[in-house]
Amino acid sequence: MSGGVSGEDLVVFVGTGTGADGVGPVLPMREAAVNVADLAVTRGDGVFESIGVIDGRFIELPRHLARLKHSAAMLDLPEPDVDAFARAARLAVGAHAPQRELLVKLLHSRGIEGSDRASGWVQVLFGTDHSEARSTGIRVVTLDRGYRHDIAQTSPWLLQGAKTLSYALNKAALREAARRDADDVIFVSTDDVVLEGPTSNVLVRHGDLFRTPRPDLGILAGTTQAAVFETLGALGFETSEAVMAPAELATADGVWLLSSGRLIAPVRELDGRSLPVDAAFTRTLLERTFGL
Ligand code: PLP
Repeated sequence: MSGGVSGEDLVVFVGTGTGADGVGPVLPMREAAVNVADLAVTRGDGVFESIGVIDGRFIELPRHLARLKHSAAMLDLPEPDVDAFARAARLAVGAHAPQRELLVKLLHSRGIEGSDRASGWVQVLFGTDHSEARSTGIRVVTLDRGYRHDIAQTSPWLLQGAKTLSYALNKAALREAARRDADDVIFVSTDDVVLEGPTSNVLVRHGDLFRTPRPDLGILAGTTQAAVFETLGALGFETSEAVMAPAELATADGVWLLSSGRLIAPVRELDGRSLPVDAAFTRTLLERTFGL
C-alpha cells in the first residue's frame, strides 16, 4: 500500500467541477479537500485503484482502468471517465517530485449525498521502499475470511471482486498479522480454499506449475498477477487459475504475494513455518515483468 502522505504528494480532481477535458489543476495533497458529505467519506461508497509507476512508466494502466470500470458497474455507480482519469494521472505524475517508484490512486465516489453526481480524484504519492520485502521475503499468516469460496455466486450483493473504498477490514487483517508478528495475510474461506491477501493475490509454485486462486472465488482479479502470468508463460512455465487448499501452500516450492505497489514479494514464512525463497527467480520476474 502507499507510504505516508507527504507535503509534496499531489491531487488532481476528475469530472464534476473541473474543466472541459474533465481534469482539474494539480493541487498539493494538503490543500485538496473532499466535501465532508461525500459518500466516499461517510460510507466508503466508491471504488478505487492503486497503480505503481516506475521511472515514470505506469504499470498495467489499461488493466487498472478496466477494473475501475468493472468495480463501478458492480456498485451501480456512474461509469467513470477513464480517459479523464488517465489524463489526470499523467498530469499529476508529471508534476510530482521525481522518485524511482511512485504510487497513483484513482478514486471514484458516488459523490455528495443527494447530488446524483459522482466525484473523482487522482492522488500521486511517494512509493514505499519495498526492496527488503521483494528480496528477503515476508512472513505471512493465514486468516479465516469468514465466508465460503462460492460467495460471489451465492451473494453478489456482498461485492466480492469489486475494489471498493471500504478497506477497514483489509486494514484490520493486516493489524492482526502484526499482532501475530507477521507482515501480511493470506485469507482462507470457511470451506478451506485459499483466497487472496487483504491487498494482494497469491502465487503458488510446484515444480514448473504456477497457480493462483481462481478469480471467481470472491477475490479481486489482480493486475500484477495477470502481468506475472504473462512473464511466466513467456519463460515456458505452465500457469493456471485454481482452487487450492491451504495444505498446498505448505508443500509449495515457492509462494509469493502479488500487488501493485510491492509488486512481487516471496513468502519466507507461513504460519511460523519456513518456505523456500528463490531470490534470483524473484529478481528475474521483477526485471522481466516490470523492468525493475
Ligand atoms: N486483492 C485485493 C483485495 C487487493 O486489494 C489487491 C490490490 O490492492 C489485490 C488483490 C492485488 O491487485 P493488483 O495486483 O491489481 O494490485
